[in-house]
Amino acid sequence: MSSYWIDSIENYKKYNKIDDNYECDVCIIGGGITGLSCGYYLSKEGLKVIIVEKDYIGQKVSGNSTAKITYQHNLIYDYLLKSYGHNNAKAYLEANKKAITNIKDIIDTENIDCDFEYQPNYVYTTKQEELTKIHAEIQALHNLDEEVEFVTDSSLPFKIAGALKNENQAQFQPVKYMLGLADFITNNNSLIFCNSTASNFDKDKDEYITTVNGYKIKSKYVIVASHYPFKKITRILLCKNVSIYFLCFRN
Ligand SMILES: Cc1cc2nc3c(=O)[nH]c(=O)nc-3n(C[C@H](O)[C@H](O)[C@H](O)COP(=O)(O)OP(=O)(O)OC[C@H]3O[C@@H](n4cnc5c(N)ncnc54)[C@H](O)[C@@H]3O)c2cc1C
Repeated sequence: MSSYWIDSIENYKKYNKIDDNYECDVCIIGGGITGLSCGYYLSKEGLKVIIVEKDYIGQKVSGNSTAKITYQHNLIYDYLLKSYGHNNAKAYLEANKKAITNIKDIIDTENIDCDFEYQPNYVYTTKQEELTKIHAEIQALHNLDEEVEFVTDSSLPFKIAGALKNENQAQFQPVKYMLGLADFITNNNSLIFCNSTASNFDKDKDEYITTVNGYKIKSKYVIVASHYPFKKITRILLCKNVSIYFLCFRN
């Protein structure tokens, strides 16, 4: 199955294959939304970043998503409150709200044309017997000081029993957004290589050496943003941000 977001881009920008050995501050493995977001923030701080992507920018999970930007991940807050308590549920909510703000800030600051628009998010059911779950989620969000409401109308072309409606969520064209991040990165003393597969990385004294298509990239840090780790790892810092997970290695 193909992706509308990928297929609707004309003149998809393709970066070259790695062609030599390189040195940089941070080597990022994976050019999906995680790797590109890391690359954006780090190159903005003046670090030299190299992103290596085995295919093309954003063509894997990130380019095949539903394109929504929301902190409402199905019915999660009732579960978080009951399982992890108020402080942890609130922390999850605030981190995800901040991520929406961050994406909007990047779009505005860098003038990325990616069809961003605020939209309400609905979690609906067509079954009367499931309404208790919707009401429990609404109550959980009220306990976390969020203004959400129960509705029985939606713009869906079929009848629903009811839904949680959450304002100020958003949608965008994720591939346009990622290509905007890639433009920023390559305009700021950093590089992106496509068709370039990292096969290994090792620490040698104070630096990492990443092997990519047989070439070597020396760096102070490595970020594995390949969605699934491609190498067995022992020391990790795990970061999470709006469905974005990455593994970050540091000295
Ligand atoms: C159907 C679907 C819908 C979704 N909808 C949403 C949504 O609406 N909103 C939301 O926030 N999240 C959504 N998600 C989740 C979200 O899309 C993912 O969490 C996010 O895109 C993951 O981004 P990533 O950069 O980690 O992974 P990816 O986009 O998969 O990027 C990883 C990249 O690493 C590259 N790579 C892998 N191994 C190597 C290697 N050895 N060397 C070099 N490169 C390598 C891959 O080619 C790939 O491009 C959805 C997910 C799915 C599956």
